[in-house]
Amino acid sequence: MDYLELLVDFHLNNYRQGPGSKEATLKALSFIPKNDKEKIKIADIGCGSGQQTIDLAKNTNSQIAAVDLFPRFLDKLNYISKELGLSNRIKTVCESMENLSFKKESLDMIWSEGAIYNMGFKNGLQQWRKFLKKGGFMAVSEICWIRPNRPKKLCDFWNKAYSGMDSFSNKIQVVEECGFAPLGAFVLPQECWVNNYYEPSLKQIPDFLQRHNNSDEAKATVKEHMEEMEMYVKYRDYYSYGFFIGTKI
Ligand code: SAH
Repeated sequence: MDYLELLVDFHLNNYRQGPGSKEATLKALSFIPKNDKEKIKIADIGCGSGQQTIDLAKNTNSQIAAVDLFPRFLDKLNYISKELGLSNRIKTVCESMENLSFKKESLDMIWSEGAIYNMGFKNGLQQWRKFLKKGGFMAVSEICWIRPNRPKKLCDFWNKAYSGMDSFSNKIQVVEECGFAPLGAFVLPQECWVNNYYEPSLKQIPDFLQRHNNSDEAKATVKEHMEEMEMYVKYRDYYSYGFFIGTKI
C-alpha cells in the first residue's frame, strides 16, 4: 500500500479527519445571513467522510457537492447520508480541489474544514473564488498560530510540515487580499483537536497496525501521527485552527 492509501486507511474509521466539531460548524454557519442559508448550492471541499457535510445538510436547506480526492471517504459519506435520508441533497464528487469542475459563479457557498492546506490557503482561496456567485460565501478552516513568541522547536516542526503556517491575523489579511469581505473568524477550542480528532485516532492505532501486519510503512504512518500529537500536547496554547468566514466582493 502506498503512503497516501495508508493515510486514508489510518483516518477512514474516524469520525473526522481533522480538528473540528459540530458546534464549530454551526458557529461558522451562524455568520451567514439567514435568508442565504435557504435552497443554496454548497461545495464542501476536502470533505473526507463528511461529518461537517452532514451537519451542513441538517442545518440548511441546501444542495451539497461534497468533494474529495479519495473514493473511500466518499463511499463512507454516501453510506451515512443514505442512512440519514440525506442522499437526495448530498452528492459526492471525486476530484482534486486543485482542478474543480464547477462552473464559474455557480455556487452560493464554499465550505472547507481542515483541507485547504493541501493546496495552500491563499492559493485555494484565489482559485476557488471564481466558482462563487458574487456575494456568495466562503467558510474555511486553516491551521494557524494563535500566540506570539513561539518556541523554535515548534516553529521548526510546523514550518517543515506546512510551509503556509502563519498567524491568525495574517490569515484574515489573506482573506481580504483574495477578494473577500470578512464576516467573522474564530479559533477552534482544544476539544476540537483532542476529543474529536486525536483521541479517536489514537484508539484505532492497534487495529490499524494489525490490518497492515505491523508493516514498516504502517509503523511509519503511526510514528508521524504520534509526533504531531506529542507536539500538540506540549504546545497546544500556541496554535489551533482558525475558521474564516467571508463574502465574495
Ligand atoms: N473536512 C474533513 C476532512 C479534513 S482532512 C474533516 O474536517 O473531517 C483533509 C481532506 O482533504 C481529506 O479527506 C483528504 O482526502 C482531502 N484531500 C487531500 N488532498 C486533496 C485534493 N487534492 N483534492 C481533494 N481533496 C483532497
